[in-house]
Amino acid sequence: MIASDKTLIRLNGLSKHYGRLTVLDGIDLEVKAGEVLAIIGPSGSGKSTLLRCINYLEPPDGGTITVDDIVIDAGNPIGRAALSGLRRRVGMVFQSFNLFPHMSVLRNISLPQERVLGRSRKEADARSMQLLSRVGLADKAEQFPIRCSGGQQQRIAIARALALDPEVMLFDEPTSALDPELGLEVLAVMRELAKSGMTMIVVTHEMGFAENVSDTVMIMADGNIVEKGPSKEIMRNPQHERTKRFLRAVH
Ligand code: ADP
Ligand code: MG
Repeated sequence: MIASDKTLIRLNGLSKHYGRLTVLDGIDLEVKAGEVLAIIGPSGSGKSTLLRCINYLEPPDGGTITVDDIVIDAGNPIGRAALSGLRRRVGMVFQSFNLFPHMSVLRNISLPQERVLGRSRKEADARSMQLLSRVGLADKAEQFPIRCSGGQQQRIAIARALALDPEVMLFDEPTSALDPELGLEVLAVMRELAKSGMTMIVVTHEMGFAENVSDTVMIMADGNIVEKGPSKEIMRNPQHERTKRFLRAVH
């Protein structure tokens, strides 16, 4: 849901190489506040690397990343303040949920709030419970993650990321590791999040989500943006041969 004209994320000429392999070939991209952008494209096209560069899990080799008031220039060493500012603004959810197995669900969500935001345990727990209710898992607070289904674990991972009050959420194939039925629970939470106005970039193979939930769809191939536009236009009437081929293959 694009609620405003404010550009929250801006990438200019973002590039990344592994040795001689160009993985991101000078990506220019703008994401507005409240926009939900779905990124689709063949395996190896650079989708994960793009997300990982946006929150600097992977340092880019060229270009700039702007998230809100944080500007990072790949040409200069990143400052500690810029890095922590970026990490605080950008939440990330991966295909694998990466919950701490030896901590309760509640502790998994509260601990990062205490460490990163300096919240007291009481404040953190209150916020965690709020978010667990939001993802439909308030009754799992005292469980260990292993006792939860994959779909529940991914919803817990979403709650954990939201607990740090990010301005944007990045999702890298959040349902790929799940049975379709459990994937639906996760997609429902993501749809609700999109409706609430969260800015989201979602790498996905879920064509229904791309068409019906996201505002914008972008197709990547070989480290480039092939095509990008309003989701229904792109999904129903793609212009580029590369997009048509990809959509035929996944449908
Ligand atoms: P996607 O998410 O679209 O499948 P990735 O961003 O994971 O694509 O990968 C893009 C390309 O970069 C692939 O060819 C992949 O093998 C390569 N790649 C990704 N990470 C690394 C790495 N750490 N070292 C070397 N090559 C990598
Ligand atoms: Mg990937």
